[in-house]
Amino acid sequence: MVAITVEGKIVNIMKYSIHDGPGIRTTVFFKGCPLNCQWCHNPESQGFGQELMYWPDRCIGCGQCLEICSNGAVISTAGKLEYLRDQCLACGACCKACHAGVRELVAKTMSVSEVMAEIEKDLIFYDESGGGVTFSGGEAVMQPVFLLEMLKECRKKEIHTAVETCGYVNLEFLQMISDYVDLFLYDLKLMDRQKHQDFTGVPNVLILDNLRWLVEHHPRIIVRVPIIPGINDDEENLSQLGNFVASLKRVTELHILPYHKAGVDKYQRLGLAYLLSDIQSPDNERMEQIVGQLEQFGLKVKIGG
Ligand code: SF4
Ligand code: SF4
Repeated sequence: MVAITVEGKIVNIMKYSIHDGPGIRTTVFFKGCPLNCQWCHNPESQGFGQELMYWPDRCIGCGQCLEICSNGAVISTAGKLEYLRDQCLACGACCKACHAGVRELVAKTMSVSEVMAEIEKDLIFYDESGGGVTFSGGEAVMQPVFLLEMLKECRKKEIHTAVETCGYVNLEFLQMISDYVDLFLYDLKLMDRQKHQDFTGVPNVLILDNLRWLVEHHPRIIVRVPIIPGINDDEENLSQLGNFVASLKRVTELHILPYHKAGVDKYQRLGLAYLLSDIQSPDNERMEQIVGQLEQFGLKVKIGG
């Protein structure tokens, strides 16, 4: 019999998370997302291809990377080394050669058993806290075969699973995995179609349709909304959101997550522009106000994950 090895592209496996579902969890971040949200705090997980994070201030000038890069992505100008991202094929050769950790590949290719081995190290914490594993990203559902195999393994081992999704995925992918998921964390951002397109790069029709389907076919869904001041915290969006989620009947829980700037530094490391520098995180008072607005729709609203 031939063993089938399914592999996934993984950005990070984060231990002891308390914001991605119930209890203490291990969160597995998948590479690649169909959305391009301007406030994303995991920009390294957005692209589907391999990328490099770059810390030029760590460089000790040993010249190893200049010697090893055969693609012309490291050059020496007036004795100073320069990294040309446009020329870089993200082959990783210089990452291995550099002892100062100046460049790091963002994603790792991992097998189901490799990821399971990491997850299983923390079984004791899941048992004691009612936690488990959360598959996030990026968009985990965009690697459906790998995700399905992961979910099946977790089910065999009685590990609670949550899948965080942006919802902009083929319905068939959701149908494939739905029976093996204990909890969906379903992200909604903006109810206005054009604004959704402007701030995330895609319209929201598929996302809303997929949520309507999921509600009919899955017993446990929490809707999560990042609160981005000046972008989606206006009366109109909150009221459309409250009405929509309340109309779904079986979704009774809504979690609102305050915008934060924790990922801003990563944009620079990836050579990307961060467009929302002027936005400040909402304070507790503002978040409580929003809770009050959304509770008027009969929903149970919580701040945080
Ligand atoms: S190998 Fe690393 S430390 Fe050496 S020159 Fe290149 S980036 Fe700098
Ligand atoms: S990852 Fe490869 S192509 Fe990119 S700079 Fe390093 S050696 Fe050159």
